[in-house]
Amino acid sequence: QELPADPNLSNTRRQVRGACFSYVTPRQPSNPVLVHASQEMAEAIGLAAGDTQSEEFLSIFSGATTLEGTSPYAMCYGGHQFGSWAGQLGDGRAINLTEVVHEGQRWALQLKGAGETPYSRTADGLAVLRSSIREHLCSEAMYHLGVPTTRSLSLVLTGDQVMRDMLYNGNTAYEKGAVVCRVAPSFIRFGNFQIFTARDEVSTLRSLTDYTIRHFFPHIEPGTPEAYAEFFKEVSQRTLDLVIEWQRVGFVHGVMNTDNLSILGLTIDYGPYGWLEGYEPDWTPNTTDRSQRRYRYGQQPGVALWNLVQLANALMPLVKDTVLLEASLADFQLKFPKKYLAMLRRKLGLATPDEGDAELAEELEKLLAYTETDMTIFFRNLSKVEKDGGLPANKTFFEHLQTAMYQPEDLNAALQQKWEDWLDHYLQRLQLETANDEERRTVMNNANPKYVLRNYMAQLAIDQADLGDFKLVDELYQLLKKPYDEQPEMEEKWFVKRPEWARNKVGCSM
Ligand code: AMP
Ligand code: MG
Ligand code: MG
Repeated sequence: QELPADPNLSNTRRQVRGACFSYVTPRQPSNPVLVHASQEMAEAIGLAAGDTQSEEFLSIFSGATTLEGTSPYAMCYGGHQFGSWAGQLGDGRAINLTEVVHEGQRWALQLKGAGETPYSRTADGLAVLRSSIREHLCSEAMYHLGVPTTRSLSLVLTGDQVMRDMLYNGNTAYEKGAVVCRVAPSFIRFGNFQIFTARDEVSTLRSLTDYTIRHFFPHIEPGTPEAYAEFFKEVSQRTLDLVIEWQRVGFVHGVMNTDNLSILGLTIDYGPYGWLEGYEPDWTPNTTDRSQRRYRYGQQPGVALWNLVQLANALMPLVKDTVLLEASLADFQLKFPKKYLAMLRRKLGLATPDEGDAELAEELEKLLAYTETDMTIFFRNLSKVEKDGGLPANKTFFEHLQTAMYQPEDLNAALQQKWEDWLDHYLQRLQLETANDEERRTVMNNANPKYVLRNYMAQLAIDQADLGDFKLVDELYQLLKKPYDEQPEMEEKWFVKRPEWARNKVGCSM
């Protein structure tokens, strides 16, 4: 099924009407060098071991050569940015090379940072090594965590310099240009639908929606209001499941604009994202959102729903009846607290439902936030608590938890007591469980990763790579391939709290 294409073949910036995408030519990199490739992703698209080291691979995935018979393109989309309609956005620095079908799975291969497109607006279409390492490592890490996500095949340096305003010191600086090849069944976003409704281009909207349903929701037969409403219902459910997974692992996206929400419920657009260290519901990694905090951790489910309302509005010309769409939005609101609690119960190792569970979880969330406790380390260590109250090395509960606390010396006796009280409550609760300590620990350790890509970890890899040493990029990539495994040889180095120098530092997106 063909989607309407922009007849203008130039890369120049413009408003594109009546088309879902524009053909573009990737920019020539001056001296491409491979920094890293994901072997799993390479295998998933049908490449053999070793292929990623070839000249041909580098040439294709740096944008230097276009595969014969393919027509690279950038997609047109709009979006709400920080709550306001922003008009046409589009793939300003992303270029879809082609699609590959391997073992029944369709993959779109997309270069990020390969130069300007009609959608580049006032920016350069480029990406720097810093943000590209962050995207490459984090998308693969999320995949191995079991969180729906776009993937990353490769990361190359282009050999070109890219000008960036450094947000921290206000100076302009040059950074190394890089290109990531992102991979996903599709990169279509909520904003792809919104732009056509905003422009009253209903037939293009219908083409795109039918295309999306036929390829990615093939059990739905498009054409009727009910079918489009069913499509919306499935997108709502996937979005809900996605955001629950983000909350589970402590991932904060940072820019949940509607152009950054995937229609397939994948994590997409790794910009100023971050991982909770101290468990702070109000935390956002995005320095440009530090006053409003629209995209803070605790707000992600609410924003997901707000974005779904925008998608519902975009689908109105096809569904026509608001009642059909409202049912899915109501369903999201009904299911969210249930799914959220079910997720927390997994983290706590509670398999037998009990009515006090919500309270137990809420008490814990308050304490974690109040005493600046590292989310990842806390939950991982909690699985060591035994049903009879026993702890490794005969520690008290508070002592056991101190390794996860950022300022344990500041905790007064009253707060320590609150922690001991919470443990009593938890131990009482564990008595209802039929699983033994070992079995419960296994379940908990599959819900609570031991290793996540803390912001400072990515920063260390960036600093080394900037000096031409890519070893840490690969070390983190290998570590994060098995985030739930103990990996004792890695524990001392990476199963640790964020160092003090990295407090409040964030990665930025550009
Ligand atoms: P983001 O906030 O990263 O989701 O980007 C919002 C919009 O800006 C999208 O249309 C991007 O394609 C575009 N954009 C971001 N960075 C660049 C860049 N360096 N060059 C061109 N367009 C960009
Ligand atoms: Mg984006
Ligand atoms: Mg971005």
